[in-house]
This record gives sequence, structure tokens and C-alpha cells, in this order.
Amino acid sequence: MLLSKLFIPITKDLPTEAKIKSHQLMIMTGMIKQSSAGIYSWLPLGFKVMKKIEKIVREEQNFIGAQEMLMPTIQSSEIWKESGRYDDYGEEMLRIKDRQGREMLYGPTNEELITDIFRSSVKSYKSLPQLLYHIQWKFRDEIRPRFGVMRCKEFYMKDAYSFDLSEEDAKKSYNKMFYSYLKTFERLGLKAIPMAADTGPIGGDLSHEFVILAETGESQIYADKNIFEINSNKYNFDDQSLNKMRDDFTKIYAVTDEKFSEAEFNKKVKKENQMKTKGIEVGHIFYFSDKYSKPMNCLIDDKNGKKTSVKMGSYGIGVSRLVGATIEANYNNNVMKWPKSISPFDVVIIPSISKNNKENLEKAEKIYKELKKQNIDVLLDDVDENMSNKFKKHDLIGVPYQIIIGSKSEKDKIEFKELNSKSEMLSFEKIKLKLKI
Ligand code: ATP
Ligand code: MG
Repeated sequence: MLLSKLFIPITKDLPTEAKIKSHQLMIMTGMIKQSSAGIYSWLPLGFKVMKKIEKIVREEQNFIGAQEMLMPTIQSSEIWKESGRYDDYGEEMLRIKDRQGREMLYGPTNEELITDIFRSSVKSYKSLPQLLYHIQWKFRDEIRPRFGVMRCKEFYMKDAYSFDLSEEDAKKSYNKMFYSYLKTFERLGLKAIPMAADTGPIGGDLSHEFVILAETGESQIYADKNIFEINSNKYNFDDQSLNKMRDDFTKIYAVTDEKFSEAEFNKKVKKENQMKTKGIEVGHIFYFSDKYSKPMNCLIDDKNGKKTSVKMGSYGIGVSRLVGATIEANYNNNVMKWPKSISPFDVVIIPSISKNNKENLEKAEKIYKELKKQNIDVLLDDVDENMSNKFKKHDLIGVPYQIIIGSKSEKDKIEFKELNSKSEMLSFEKIKLKLKI
């Protein structure tokens, strides 16, 4: 892609309405544009990053055997009346009427809809377990939308639902999701900590919020530093190992404020290991047993032909929130560096251009064509602008690798730079290796 052709409305001024770095940066680099309070359009640069995140989320869901489907954004109020949540959900739910006066709503989540789908098609334990997911827009009329894509009204979420015969089986589904979440966040270059979350009247310990540490986060967290020492890669994908993995994490104190007690914290965690800080919730997994299947009459026959309510859990990841959260985690000293896995481009070529010197641009174009041929997603900054402005701009856009064609270029060595480190002179072959072609 040529920068001169890219639809990227860059602004130089700090947007006054944006209070946190990720929000400022997403507006300044033209990733998003607010359309009304808490509702955004995703412009090409932002959309590209979000789609890359979505792809990783999808791959890790598929890996554990979850099946993708797609439910609509608009739902009928009927099923929400059955579950009892139509009234409980309150003003966060956007309620709409169709032309026949039927009560509809824009889905804030999908437990009711998936339960309705499930009860009409599955009748026997033989079809269990099932793990279904979709990646779809949600709408919640948040009272105070803020921080850009972090807390908005319309947002993109992966939500999965598990169906099992017994609580014991449901635990296995829960553990698989737990594993999938750890892997997903790791591939996104994030250190997300599973924190014990409130289970409400359901009880038990099967609810975790996955939180990344960030000063600007809205969740207050309390944890034992040892939670960072657990190496999630040492667990295998089998029931026993996954159970141990969840146990190992859950044993160490790590909670958000709704579960926090000062006395328990002091009793369980040595003073020097206590960590009180802020974080961003990027995912939430929750086993809620028959909370929806019971009132909605979602019954299955067990081995003895006895009808029983299916045991369910739900598992969310904030795909659009993750774009902002990743920026919060990686922005440092006025430089943004995207993790390679989700960077909007693999590499940017920055030639020094002037009216009298087209040589650099020609050289850059040659490299550009060559890299494109190798399927590298490359951005060429062909804009006639001085180098210092260019560098400032690319510090914000955050493409992790730069090929710089300027005064330093030699005959067969090219200047190559990884953001936040020193540049080096490399042959084109070496550069291709660095870019893993
Ligand atoms: P929060 O406590 O932040 O409001 P929640 O408990 O309401 O989150 P869930 O219903 O568990 O969130 O939704 C799953 C995921 O969707 C969350 O972990 C978060 O990453 C994302 N999410 C929730 N609400 C929003 C929002 N208003 N804007 C953007 N992402 C959101
Ligand atoms: Mg919420």
C-alpha cells in the first residue's frame, strides 16, 4: 500500500476529548472516527488491526473445538422475558419496536438466543458437549461511554457458550476456554492475568476475568506477584493437565475489587508480594449452570432417559476493546509499536524524497515491489515530507519494522530499523530473513 493512497486521516493535534493514550492515538492516526457518543466507524487502519485480532481469537477458539456460527444483532424480547432478564437488564439494553409494534432489542449478549437455538435442536446427552461461538457486534447503552473503543456503546465481541450434561463435564469445557484465552492473549503480545471474579448466586469458583495491567484501566486489581511466574506453556491440551492449569492459577490470590477483602489479601499474600494496581478487562469466562436453561426449559435426556437442564457457561472476549488495550500496553515514550501478529503492516519503507532527488523513491519502489511479490504486507511512505516529520508519524502508526532509504544507504546495504532499537545496515537478503520470508 502506498501511504499517499491510504485512507488515513492523520491529525497532528491532540484530540481534546480523548483522555487516554489509546484513544488519542486511534484518532490521531485515523484508526477510528466517532459517529456519535460511544459509537465509532472503523477506518482502514483500525479495521485492519481489529480483523487481525479477530483472526487470532478465531483460530484459538477453533483449536479447542469450538464451532463458529453467527447470530443476529437484533433479538426478540420474548426470550428475554422467559429468562427474566428483560426487566433486569435495565437501561443498558437498547429497545426497539418493529413496524408491527413487536418489541425487539439490539443484543447486549446472547445467552437467551443461544439457549433458544439449543433447546429446539438438541434433546439428548449424546450430542453433548457442545461449544459454540460467534463474533458479532453488541450494543449496550453504557451510561458513560469513554476512552474510545474501550467502553463504547457498540462494540465487537467474541462470545462463546458451552453446553454439558453435568457440572463435572462443564468444568472441562471451562478449562478448555481458560486455555484458549491464555493462548489468544499471548499471541496478541499481551500478559493477561486470569483473576477470580464474582459468581453471584451460582457460587463456586468458575468465573475469571482476564485482565491486562494498565494505569488507565477501569478495574482495580489485587494480586500476588507470583501469578506472573506461572508459565502457561507448560500445560498440555488434555483434561487432566488443563485442570491442573486452572488450579495453579486459581490457587494464587488474584481478584478484582468485587471479590476483594483486605483481611483475606493480608492473610494470603506476603506484604512484599502484594500488588494493588489497575487493569483492563479483556475477557470474561463464567460457568452459570442452569441459570438460563432452567427458566427457558432447555432440557436434555440423560443416560437413563431422565430430563435435566443443560449446564451452561459463557465466554466473552472484547475484540474491539483489545485494539485500544493493546495500545495501552505497548505505547511508550511517544512511540507505539504493534506486536508483529496484529500490526497493520509488516514493514514500512521510508525513503527520503525531494524534488531534485527521485533516486531514493525509485529504490524504495523496487524494494516495495519485491516485498509485495513475497506476500509481505508493506507500506511505502511516498509522501513528499521531511524525514523528521515522517519518523514522528511512523512512531505513532507503530509498524514495527522500517526500511529507511536516505543518506545512509549504500550500494548493496539498506538501513533497517526495528522500532525502539538502533538501525543497522543490512543486505536485502538479511532483511528478508528478518521479515521471515
Ligand atoms: P465491564 O465490566 O468492562 O463492563 P462486562 O463484565 O460488562 O465488562 P462482559 O459482559 O463479560 O463484560 O463482556 C465480555 C467482554 O466484552 C469484556 O471482557 C470486555 O472486554 C468487552 N466489553 C464489555 N463491555 C464493553 C464496552 N462497553 N465496550 C467495549 N468492550 C466491552
Ligand atoms: Mg459492563
